[in-house]
Amino acid sequence: GITKYRQPSPSPPGVVVDAVVADKRYDNLESLSIPTSAGLIAFEFHGISFKTRREAMVFRYRLKDFDRDWQNTRETRVEYPPLPIGTYTFEVVAVDRDLVYSEEPATVHLNVIRDPRDSRIDTLDRELRHLRDLHRLRSALEPARSIEDSVTATGETLMADLPGIQGILMVCDEREWHFGRCEEQDLLRYERTLVWNGKIRGRLVLLTERAWSDAWEQAFLDEIAGQVSRALEARELEMQLLRSSRLVSMGQMAAGMAHELSQPLGAVSTTVGDVYLRLLDEIDLPPDELKEMMRDSAALIERMEHTINHLRMFSRDTSQVSGVVFSLNEAVHSSLKIVGTQLKNHGIEVVLDLADDLPEVEGFPHQMDQVFLNLLANARDALDERTGGWKRIEIRTRPKDGRVIGEVTDNGPGMDVAVADQVFEPFFTTKTAEHGTGLGLSISYAIVRNHGGEMICESRKGKGTMFQVSLPVIRNDS
Ligand code: ADP
Repeated sequence: GITKYRQPSPSPPGVVVDAVVADKRYDNLESLSIPTSAGLIAFEFHGISFKTRREAMVFRYRLKDFDRDWQNTRETRVEYPPLPIGTYTFEVVAVDRDLVYSEEPATVHLNVIRDPRDSRIDTLDRELRHLRDLHRLRSALEPARSIEDSVTATGETLMADLPGIQGILMVCDEREWHFGRCEEQDLLRYERTLVWNGKIRGRLVLLTERAWSDAWEQAFLDEIAGQVSRALEARELEMQLLRSSRLVSMGQMAAGMAHELSQPLGAVSTTVGDVYLRLLDEIDLPPDELKEMMRDSAALIERMEHTINHLRMFSRDTSQVSGVVFSLNEAVHSSLKIVGTQLKNHGIEVVLDLADDLPEVEGFPHQMDQVFLNLLANARDALDERTGGWKRIEIRTRPKDGRVIGEVTDNGPGMDVAVADQVFEPFFTTKTAEHGTGLGLSISYAIVRNHGGEMICESRKGKGTMFQVSLPVIRNDS
């Protein structure tokens, strides 16, 4: 047969922008300035082709920094609404009937400038822009669920939106975040404090290459700082609520528990089933093998018992039962009696700084021993990761503002913020199944709260970790 094909076009179509029509007609210019008051802005163009009729040509165009994508049209004129102050580039290519494009787009650089006769439009334009930026900041902060997320959302949104912005530095409770360039040479620096609950909690520093001079713009910076402060305050409140509402929902707890128990339960069930079948079929079962199977199963059952006992702590309501009066120092000593030698064997030095005149607290000393045992075991595990160097745990107690404070500090590897935020959650662990259940700290937390106290964690990556227990001093009513 005969193959029909079209010759490729010998030359791509040309394209020309004839005029820009705004407050007046600007003919054949490659770049021009137009005042904001100009109103609609139209571009007129035409294509040049030897083989395609004018009416059959198609154009692709876009106004860079305004249109997101290229648009198609059969017209030779396109219109835009009044544009905010800024620079734009209009680009257009012609497409002939063989779908061959112009090699180069025709371009016009457009500079929308403040109207010399009317500076109100300029102000209005800028205010609109700022309002849009504030709105975008608010919607970026909305979904953030942690302080960390809020800071990141702020940094990224402001970097993308603020004109002339080069870098952002945020400081919040002694932690620092950087976005963009943060060396300050050649840049102007605008700083606002972040304030909530009546306290200065951090700073927001904007490094720009353009001055924020007038009062309106200064107010805009204040508004940004206010929004960021409010978002951070809200996140902090949420986190406190989460901690104090027994930390987790029942659902989360049940899921963790099911996960924790299902594996050993499965293993025991397989073993028992296996033994039973072999007994039924009177298959010979060597005593050694049987012994081993029973020993493994017993160990698994013990592990499950351990988990379940631990979990009982969560539901135990001790508020009605009054305990005994004791000193937190006793809990420190009795926990050290149990793990002191072990810590020494791990090459860890334990430094004690216990207040002599420590007021007494009321409750259950054995439970409080358990808290210190957990903290020491965690510090030991953390220090085990430290290769070489001096391994040290410091235990401090002291009275403070009608409370008794106990602190266990290690100079181990510390934690990431993401880890530190979750340590009190049941079943959260970074350890392998043999080394951790992820229950130690959540149980310690529950014990401390049942004693009317608080527990917090402070950790710095690469520096170490401190856990602090604070308990109310017993009231001497009699
Ligand atoms: P587990 O020790 O069984 O993992 P915990 O609730 O006691 O469970 O601890 C949860 C997690 O918190 C640990 O897996 C570890 O990642 C982290 N952690 C606790 N204490 C420290 C510490 N002193 N230093 C570093 N990380 C710690």
